[in-house]
Amino acid sequence: MKSPIRVVIVGRPNVGKSTLFNRLFGKRRALVHDEPGVTRDRLEEKTQWWMHRVTFPVLLVDTGGVGGDRFAAEIEQQVKIAVEQADLVLFVLDSTAGVTPLDEDLLRELNRSGVIKKTPVFAVVNKVDDELHEDRIAEFFSLGLDEVLTLSAEHGRGIDDLKWKILERFEDRGTPVLNEAPEVTDEVEPRIKIPRIAIVGKPNVGKSTLLNAILGENRMITSPIAGTTVDAIDSLADLSGKPYLFVDTAGIRRKSKTEAGIEVLSVVQTRKALEKADVAILVLDGEEGLADQDEKIGGLIEDVGCSVILMMNKWDTQRKNPGFTQELAAEKIREKMAYLKYAPILFTSAIRGQGLEKLGELIDEIIHQRQLKIPTHDFTEWVRKESTIHNPMNAKFFLCHQSGRNPPTFVCHVNDPDKVHFSLRRHFVNALRERWGYMGSPVRLLFIEAKNRKSLPRKKKTRRNSPKVAV
Ligand code: GDP
Ligand code: GDP
Repeated sequence: MKSPIRVVIVGRPNVGKSTLFNRLFGKRRALVHDEPGVTRDRLEEKTQWWMHRVTFPVLLVDTGGVGGDRFAAEIEQQVKIAVEQADLVLFVLDSTAGVTPLDEDLLRELNRSGVIKKTPVFAVVNKVDDELHEDRIAEFFSLGLDEVLTLSAEHGRGIDDLKWKILERFEDRGTPVLNEAPEVTDEVEPRIKIPRIAIVGKPNVGKSTLLNAILGENRMITSPIAGTTVDAIDSLADLSGKPYLFVDTAGIRRKSKTEAGIEVLSVVQTRKALEKADVAILVLDGEEGLADQDEKIGGLIEDVGCSVILMMNKWDTQRKNPGFTQELAAEKIREKMAYLKYAPILFTSAIRGQGLEKLGELIDEIIHQRQLKIPTHDFTEWVRKESTIHNPMNAKFFLCHQSGRNPPTFVCHVNDPDKVHFSLRRHFVNALRERWGYMGSPVRLLFIEAKNRKSLPRKKKTRRNSPKVAV
């Protein structure tokens, strides 16, 4: 058995250390300290994480509350534990509060004690329950730590990415499982996860008809996967032998009408459904053509960060119009919704159940590409190579890494974000898609100022001023 990766969680009170500990541990530990100021020893638990049939022993250490109600004493204790025990430190911060003086005190101690020099320290920006506006992440980058990850410990958002980032650094601690794998309960990439789909679109495009066509004989009453709970308002469907979850379908059925009986689009409801989904199906009216409302919903999808399929429904109505081909229609869609040009287009007739045969396959491929994880070294090398091809303002790149997968997000440290000309950004996005695909998914590129970073940087000093950032 290899020695466990010792992960020590530090941070000021109330940032969510215990919640994160429980998440990373995979189950609730018996001991819970809800009372503030309760002094206790460090909490340690052994666990195992899995990645690609490789198992890693992990020792989690929560340092919360170790110093009683005086944070100065607590810092001392936390740092002592980190010095003695850590292979890696998770410095938990609260996205809603920003970087506070207490965070800075703790960071100073980590610096002074030599932990930052000796050990990878990740800034774990917690309580990002939905998307954190990217410009706000810059503040956390200013701490100069090895990685900055955003997540929600309470909702489980970003936890897999964090585990992946940790395991990426300790590949030699893994043991491949060659024989029949035991029952895996806590795998970094769950082997079976039901894709969550939201059907969205303006009124009358055929959303309910589509859902009925999909559910038809395919409806599943209970989930075949133990431990998966299905909301009453969601529907499970079986597409070619695999389950897919259609979220918030009641929202489709419960149509809002104005007094005049005209249906209105509920933006709030649409956003809610999108936030629960991996993939959105944006249904368009193939009879009437595109409308401003379609663009608005497209913008909402891009904003939330779901993957997307554009579905040109009612395509049967175009039979009478042989001059209007799918190619022409696709061109029009691309013209009107240029910002969703990465989205595949399907032509369907929900009312006849046509064009839906490949839907499951398409969703799988989109999710597969969305889940791609590019190792930091590969990505940095790639950015440097691409920046020699096109780089009109001669921006200089340092460490670049993938900071998240939902949606795929990349952070590039650059000498000056203002030197990232829009044509260079466009070049990166195009080349990124050419190399890795990401069909159907938005990708986010973030350029952060990295002054004084020489090669692949590990900045040691705290900087008080936020760095420049281009998003
Ligand atoms: P600790 O003192 O650092 O161990 O923090 P706790 O884990 O006890 O969490 C402090 C408070 O933050 C609790 O009320 C948690 O429910 C809340 N919290 C933890 N994680 C999250 C999160 O991801 N989002 C939100 N909104 N609240 C969180
Ligand atoms: P929703 O408001 O988006 O849920 O739309 P509905 O599913 O209620 O459909 C609106 C109208 O479009 C209904 O009269 C449907 O019968 C019709 N409709 C839906 N899908 C198709 C289709 O593929 N072809 C045609 N010709 N009509 C359709």
